[in-house]
Amino acid sequence: MGKRALITGVDGQDGTYLSELLLSKGYEVHGLIRRSSNHKENHKYLKDVVLHYGDICTENHLCYLINDLKPDELYNLAAQSDVAVSFQIPEYTGEATGLSVTRILEAIRYFSPNTKFYQASTSELFGNIPGPQNEDTRMIPSSPYAAAKHYAYEMTRIYRWSYGIFTCNGILMNHESPRRGLNFVTRKVTHFVANMKPMDRLHLGSLDAKRDWGYAPEYCESMWLMLQQEKPDDYVIGTGETHTIRELLFEAFSQVGLDCHDYVEIDQKFVRPLDVFELRADASKARKILNWKPKVTFKELIRIMVQSDLMEAQKFVTNK
Ligand code: NDP
Repeated sequence: MGKRALITGVDGQDGTYLSELLLSKGYEVHGLIRRSSNHKENHKYLKDVVLHYGDICTENHLCYLINDLKPDELYNLAAQSDVAVSFQIPEYTGEATGLSVTRILEAIRYFSPNTKFYQASTSELFGNIPGPQNEDTRMIPSSPYAAAKHYAYEMTRIYRWSYGIFTCNGILMNHESPRRGLNFVTRKVTHFVANMKPMDRLHLGSLDAKRDWGYAPEYCESMWLMLQQEKPDDYVIGTGETHTIRELLFEAFSQVGLDCHDYVEIDQKFVRPLDVFELRADASKARKILNWKPKVTFKELIRIMVQSDLMEAQKFVTNK
């Protein structure tokens, strides 16, 4: 019989790619979704997933679900995942992105201690510690989101060391795709490029922030690989290349033969109270132990996203 997996945050960008990967490997895939999902456009990718309504902020329900399913693997991808929004709702971010992880770990400890657990940790944990960042780099979170993820990261390690539960942190650099939410800068840019009218302007915060951007489906494979190892551990995942938002704009606008300078305006509304300036992975541990290596380059990633948004825009016009 195939393995059984439970994915929280299954209708987010990563949840959809991870469920496709696990289904292709013969897993029985269960996913947690909210009745008030913000990602309804992704539900078309989840036809073969057994969906359960629930919320990671509700303890009883998680306990029942984990007790009933006793999954071989649990991937915790659910979170209030928007850094900028976390400054506006810091308390809720702490609840959903941080404390919920303890709820899940407790449910595993009591009801399903053989479940292997993946925690979606983030390169935002490093804050402004200069790159390249690896598993030994100091962590100084610079947002309520990163602080909540830091708590979750530590709890994931504590349950490994204290109770012998198989828990892993994937410390992933930014990863993007056509399924990325429109609130994230890459998709905001590619969607604008594909849909803009001549007088439209794109409003952004800092253009100098540097990120290590990779392609989401490849990063989801690394999550699975972590849980297939003999021993649980933590891994940094990224390309090792860093690019500014300015370069992102240049690449995206070049795809449609336009100059980004004519369309972009800086808006203080999008400048964060505290920003992270440069993230760049040293993913040599993942390369050595997981044999994981990204293939899609930055240029290719932006091309994939712009082309996908152009196709969607075209469909919209044709169906009108
Ligand atoms: P998304 O924002 O696309 O998805 C987040 C998911 O979490 C959605 O399915 C959302 O459901 C769900 N969710 C949010 N709050 C709750 C809640 N209270 N109860 C149940 N579900 C909830 O994120 P990604 O797929 O991009 O990322 C997956 C994980 O990886 C996240 O934890 C993110 O923080 C982390 N991460 C992502 C990186 C990236 O670059 N993408 C980098 C590093 C880490 P709903 O539709 O109901 O809102």
